[in-house]
Amino acid sequence: MKNERKPPLRLLQEEALARRLPKNHPILPKVHNSIEKRRAGYRGELNMDYHLTFLPHNRYTIVRDLHLTDQFPFQIDTLLLSPQVIFILETKNIFGELFFDKYSKQLIRTVEGNENGFTNPREQAQRQSYQFQNWLIKHNFPSIPIEHFATISYPQSIMKTNDEKLFDRVFHTEHIVNKILEFEQPYSTSVADSKMIRKIHKTLIKENTPMKINILNKWGISPHEIIKDIQCPTCLRYPMKRNHGIWFCPYCMNESKEGHIQAIKDYFLLFDSPITNKTCREFLLLSSRRTSQQILNSMNLIKKGTTKSVFYIEND
Ligand SMILES: [Zn+2]
Repeated sequence: MKNERKPPLRLLQEEALARRLPKNHPILPKVHNSIEKRRAGYRGELNMDYHLTFLPHNRYTIVRDLHLTDQFPFQIDTLLLSPQVIFILETKNIFGELFFDKYSKQLIRTVEGNENGFTNPREQAQRQSYQFQNWLIKHNFPSIPIEHFATISYPQSIMKTNDEKLFDRVFHTEHIVNKILEFEQPYSTSVADSKMIRKIHKTLIKENTPMKINILNKWGISPHEIIKDIQCPTCLRYPMKRNHGIWFCPYCMNESKEGHIQAIKDYFLLFDSPITNKTCREFLLLSSRRTSQQILNSMNLIKKGTTKSVFYIEND
């Protein structure tokens, strides 16, 4: 089953924000910092995907980055489905010395003598397994047993604990396959058949809805602070000029036919609204209605509304 992991929506939104804030904007260092953390998290998840390729093929249906709702929304990094057992895997890419405290249930990270508290990924994974159990029940699916693991992707991170059982379920990502092979042993009875697994998988894909937040509100940025226009994909400067259907950068002389694509994507990532001919002209600083229409029609968007009030939404 081919389903590749895509960069998280929130990361893409923050990258768009960083691209479209003035270089001297006071919030920008914090945005960059957050982007770095999210990129590290994403790398950790890709690392998990790599290790899972060593599992016996076709034994598990792997579903990545699931956003579901029980009573509240919840997210699962990686889910492994089989007729006998389900595995929920939470991955963290945290660097440093990590202490998992049995009593406070906290994860305390120490780097160069400085301590920080983190969400305990073991507790997170366990919560997700309860939520996923409820999700199965809600959809009248059989109660397949669920196991959960939390992994640390950074091989150099040193893990310590005062809970002798913790390392059964918390370990470096590279051990994931051995742990799965060990934990699947007692589950020899099929609770569902392969048809049912396909049905669960289909329902998961259908109900998977990544939450798109209003990123400007989140960072306290007003829409007028956002740089409009088209960014040169080569030198990253604004704006590009349009000449006979081709974008041209007056700084580095780069030419591009597709300069507007990232701009339209940025629009959708930053503004929680459909795009119209008018908002497109305003955002790309175009004077021509016709060019604006050509661009919107070329973007594989979903066209809605009546002739007088056409608007476009993303096709995802
Ligand atoms: Zn340029």
